[in-house]
Amino acid sequence: MNKNYSTLLFIAGLLTIQIIGFAGCKKKETAKKPNILWIMCDDHTANTISSYKMRFADVIETPNIDRIANEGAMLNNCYVTNSICTPSRATIMTGKYGHKTGVYTLWDDLKVEDETVATLLQKNGYETAMIGKWHLHTQPQGFDYYSVLPGQGLYHNPVFKETGTKWTTGKEGKKYNGYVTDVITDNSLNWLDNREGVKPFFLMLHHKAPHGLWEYAERHEHLYDEVTIPEPESLNEDKTHRSEGSRTFGRDMLNLSQRMYEGKRGKDYPTGKLDIEGMSDEERIAAAYQKYLKDYLRVVAAIDENVGKVLEYLDEKGLNENTIVVYTSDQGMFLGEHSYYDKRWIYDESLKMPFLIRKPDEIKAGSQCDDMITNLDFAELILDYGGVTVPNDMQGKSFRKNLIGKTPEDWQQSMYYHYWMQFEGSEVPAHFGVRTHDYKLIFFYGRGMGLNGTTEGWNTPIGWELYDLKNDPNEMNNIYGKSGYDQITKELKTELKRLQTKYEVNLEDFPELQTIINENWNK
Ligand code: CA
Repeated sequence: MNKNYSTLLFIAGLLTIQIIGFAGCKKKETAKKPNILWIMCDDHTANTISSYKMRFADVIETPNIDRIANEGAMLNNCYVTNSICTPSRATIMTGKYGHKTGVYTLWDDLKVEDETVATLLQKNGYETAMIGKWHLHTQPQGFDYYSVLPGQGLYHNPVFKETGTKWTTGKEGKKYNGYVTDVITDNSLNWLDNREGVKPFFLMLHHKAPHGLWEYAERHEHLYDEVTIPEPESLNEDKTHRSEGSRTFGRDMLNLSQRMYEGKRGKDYPTGKLDIEGMSDEERIAAAYQKYLKDYLRVVAAIDENVGKVLEYLDEKGLNENTIVVYTSDQGMFLGEHSYYDKRWIYDESLKMPFLIRKPDEIKAGSQCDDMITNLDFAELILDYGGVTVPNDMQGKSFRKNLIGKTPEDWQQSMYYHYWMQFEGSEVPAHFGVRTHDYKLIFFYGRGMGLNGTTEGWNTPIGWELYDLKNDPNEMNNIYGKSGYDQITKELKTELKRLQTKYEVNLEDFPELQTIINENWNK
């Protein structure tokens, strides 16, 4: 070949590569607004994320989830306003309490006409997707693409309901082979790869894990085989200090041991039967605890691996700088504390949410934020980052400034909690309360008020509880009515009323509840 001709070919080749390269970059870089990757798990407690350095810090490592905190910030006092899947998710989407959206219990639907972070971001120039666990019953709105599990979904070979097929409330959908956490991640990366790419993206990547029952991936079957998981101080708590409103209720380890032994609805327990024959109650509790925790931690191991996979994808595609990454859960979870599994209670293990965020151009790596934040504030933070005006009826507050160490002077010092779902099967009575940095006051009213999914006729005793969280962080000593606490009790009751007024809790719609409150306020 003529030397000049081959040089020409070489130059033409280089030019082509540059043009393609430039076009490829341009496609991604026209987005001025940041991409938002919202990773949310189901029932993942901060306890089992190693960056929180809590109870399981010596047992579990979550290097990939930790990476978000190491390169960004971590919230140390983030709380859920109603510790159960559907209501928490509705609050996260809408920035409103359940009494505003009508999502009080697990059985209430998010209304399709409701404005959410997704509908607002979509209207304001975002390409949006929701992949994984949805659990708000109605068809997801505001998403260019969705692929969601029906209800709780399956851990193995799950089916998904997807954009483009008729929305139904049944369990049918498109089946994917594999383990659910891997499948949700792969589908998310696939969407990222195939999106138009002109607009910034908002991706809600919602894992089913580590919701019960805790079915781990086959590759993690023997993880923790040789480990004894440390027990919490309150595993065999003597609950006589509690009020009658809570003392004898709750899903406890004894109950779980029976379920692990018997299975349910004619099916064996999914990760194998626990042999409890001949054991004392204390031995059963200890054995169920070990099995529960090992199953749970194995499920978490797959989440951490998959978070790592997503972060590596962002690395490879050069998306780190302009992509906000959040890791959170829809609430906390009891891992044997107070002998409980499950959530629902206002006690700290289920109240506290993990929240880690990375935004390299704004948030200093390794930051910690001790301000009081709730899931009511998430929607407004997202809209703030997305440059979208917050609708007047949203009830939270963006904590963008808090994340860079510039906490507004009038920032909230307390939060309002309300668990409405008085359901006999869950054994958790309806209650509301207030938490400050130092104290928690709880009122158990124990009535379903005719709400969806509540058990009519299952009424439980009324009771107040008060905890001094500085001196008793594990809530092992209810001091309501004890001498020396009159003043703080009075102040907290005033604060509770102030928050109910501020958030417009519709007590007038529940005359029976109003009567119970009136009759018991000063008891
Ligand atoms: Ca949940």
